[in-house]
Amino acid sequence: MSVAKYFDEMSYGPAPEADSEARGWLARHEGKFGHFINGGFTPSQSGKSFDTFEPATGAVLAKLAIGSKADVDHAVAAARKAQGPWAKLPGHARARHLYALARMIQRHARLIAVVEAIDNGKPVRETRDIDIPLAARHFYHHAGWAQIQDTEFSDHIPVGVVGQIIPWNFPFLMLAWKVAPALALGNTVVLKPAEFTSLTALLFAELAAAAGLPAGVLNVVTGEGETGALLVDHGDVDKIAFTGSTEVGRLIRERTAGSGKSLTLELGGKSPFIVFDDADIDGAVEGVVDAIWFNQGQVCCAGSRLLVQEGIAPLFQERLLRRMSTLRVGQPLDKCIDMGAIVAPVQLSRIEALVKQGVAEGATLHQAQIEMPQGGSFYPPTLLSGVQSSSTVATEEIFGPVAVSMTFRTPDEAIQLANNSRYGLAASVWSETIGLALNVAAKLAAGVVWVNATNLFDAAVGFGGKRESGFGREGGREGAYEYLKPKAWQGRKPRAMPALPAAKPAAGEFGMPSLDRTAKLYVGGKQARPDGNYSRSIVSPKGKVLGEVGEGNRKDIRNAVAAAQAAAGWSSATAHNRAQILYYIAENLSSRADEFAARIAAMTGVSSGKAAAEVEASIERLFTYGAWADKYEGAVHVPPLRGVALAMPESLGVVGVLCPPEAPLLGFISLVAPLIAMGNRVVAVPSEAHPLAATDFYSILETSDVPAGVINIVTGSTDELGKALATHNDVDALWAFGTAELSAMVEKLSVGNLKRTFVDHGKATDWMNRAEAEGALYLRRAVDVKNIWIPYGE
Ligand code: NDP
Repeated sequence: MSVAKYFDEMSYGPAPEADSEARGWLARHEGKFGHFINGGFTPSQSGKSFDTFEPATGAVLAKLAIGSKADVDHAVAAARKAQGPWAKLPGHARARHLYALARMIQRHARLIAVVEAIDNGKPVRETRDIDIPLAARHFYHHAGWAQIQDTEFSDHIPVGVVGQIIPWNFPFLMLAWKVAPALALGNTVVLKPAEFTSLTALLFAELAAAAGLPAGVLNVVTGEGETGALLVDHGDVDKIAFTGSTEVGRLIRERTAGSGKSLTLELGGKSPFIVFDDADIDGAVEGVVDAIWFNQGQVCCAGSRLLVQEGIAPLFQERLLRRMSTLRVGQPLDKCIDMGAIVAPVQLSRIEALVKQGVAEGATLHQAQIEMPQGGSFYPPTLLSGVQSSSTVATEEIFGPVAVSMTFRTPDEAIQLANNSRYGLAASVWSETIGLALNVAAKLAAGVVWVNATNLFDAAVGFGGKRESGFGREGGREGAYEYLKPKAWQGRKPRAMPALPAAKPAAGEFGMPSLDRTAKLYVGGKQARPDGNYSRSIVSPKGKVLGEVGEGNRKDIRNAVAAAQAAAGWSSATAHNRAQILYYIAENLSSRADEFAARIAAMTGVSSGKAAAEVEASIERLFTYGAWADKYEGAVHVPPLRGVALAMPESLGVVGVLCPPEAPLLGFISLVAPLIAMGNRVVAVPSEAHPLAATDFYSILETSDVPAGVINIVTGSTDELGKALATHNDVDALWAFGTAELSAMVEKLSVGNLKRTFVDHGKATDWMNRAEAEGALYLRRAVDVKNIWIPYGE
């Protein structure tokens, strides 16, 4: 063939990456692996194993052990034994270990990249240039957190033994995201990789031990979903960190409810990719390639829902289809391909079935007419256009190389369509108008937003979702806190619940009878009669009836939540405005301090001095959160690209608060004030035994310019009202302070919309102790951090 012909055709030749080292590693293990426990490979105690396959060929790669209960017990025991000594190491020593792991990853980068490509089916170009370098970066970054842990997290201690369960789409990168922060901050780990892709975890464990990581600090137990479940249920695991499907995430939330285990869930998504008519169209088309055809679309934050402004939609689609037809699908080890194999036949069938359904529901199918490899699990780049926002393919995570597209006319419509999802993981906005792009970014319900970019990740920038995409962040300072617990809460003792004394009948007296004082509920800025028209007597410890309060029910909670939803303006009010109102509440409380103190003393039986101190502390706490309202701010990250990522604390939305039974005024203020300071709207259930301090508070709220619906108060049974709040899908978070059973119930029933929960597992807080009861510990739980990536420059 002449040189001129080559120039004319510019066709690709094969550029295979050598796999001899990777195959050699498998051969050295005779294609068979046990678990990696306590510093070495250990056969499964049940003797059971399963085969792991190569997605590009369907050939068996290796035999892996199935983790049984005995294996999980063994691994957790090893992690427990190592945890004390590991946590006791000076931060600098742990930093050196993490640094060694980062260096080790770099030294073996090619081997890891090839094993990953063979095992998962993804292109080696991606494992080599993205997965493995990012994993190394995570270890470097977290070596840094270990180094400065003493000063940066001096009021926190490690969580302990962490069970980590990861999916198959980024096996090595997900390992790094989980293992690096856990180890850096003094925890030990039992990791359960996905059954399809366990090899790089085993390779990492082996290399880490060779790099000097002490035995037991990192353990890997392979197996199926049941092995993961054994880890989730294990009584000696302090935290579960999970990435995977929303369905399994929900199951894990239910199974860990009430156990006291801390939990982070990184779940599915259906992330919008919004293109405005002033976008750089070619840039945005290239963005779609990275959004949905990167990693065969098996990406939790894939930009899978294209929302294109109507005026440019035909042109955009034409250019997108043209670009799609130039993509190359091929063998993962070919360095010149764009897309490799789907992880397994079962995932391929799922993608095929969903695309079929999309077409049946009216979408138009566009598939690149390109050469496809024979054998193995391959699927072509696909676009479904003309999709209805309610159709299955627009709402379900397909987890394959399939984008769905629809159009919009105005920015408001784009935001509405984008947020019309049960998920809230990521979003991508394309516009050359910075004002438009940032305005939209701020209004999207997503944990991560990329402006004129997509799928950017960095160890310093938190990653995680809202809504049913889960909770918790990985990376950065927010991510570090997920592996720590507050020192101040260590000494908390189980709470003694106050008795609900029976009323002693009082003899009628001659003289002027007092006027009826039945407190109503407080909903939408007004006092409201309870729906059921029942009330309950509030009785002093000596049996004297002090007053009556309304008995709220599920319908009252519904009304209160609706009022809180309608008060959305509070979340966009200025921080200065919120601070002013908190100070104003304090001022008005101060002018009635004696009356509140007398009420507390009558309800609880504490001395008048103690009651007065509770009121003073409440005023001070309101000041504290007035102070924080405009000072609890975000950060500007400088990830390794020309640009910034803005870490913005955002309100959660509508938050239910089940107030502690003790400290009837201070407990109520300590929970409500940080929430409203951060822009949340609240539905609070005051102490069941002592609600009158909260009902007396209505008139303070009425005179303090608190907008209607920002604070709603429903009195009645904590359990009943808690149940109604936990199961309400328009409640975004629920804070519950009371019995251990209440915590368990709240966590369990929160699975519907995966609301964020903050519970005390029946441990009593000393509300007068500022270290335990105020500040960042509460503010951090009152917000979600959204990271907005803004690349600029060349
Ligand atoms: P899963 O959520 O089932 O798997 C994730 C991890 O959890 C794996 O290690 C899995 O083990 C483990 N696991 C499974 N069941 C349990 C359980 N009951 N208790 C504890 N751990 C468990 O995802 P799949 O791999 O089954 O994929 C199914 C679908 O989920 C995909 O089609 C995709 O749509 C979505 N998905 C989303 C991801 C995301 O990041 N958003 C990631 C992966 C999948 P094992 O692999 O052995 O089953």
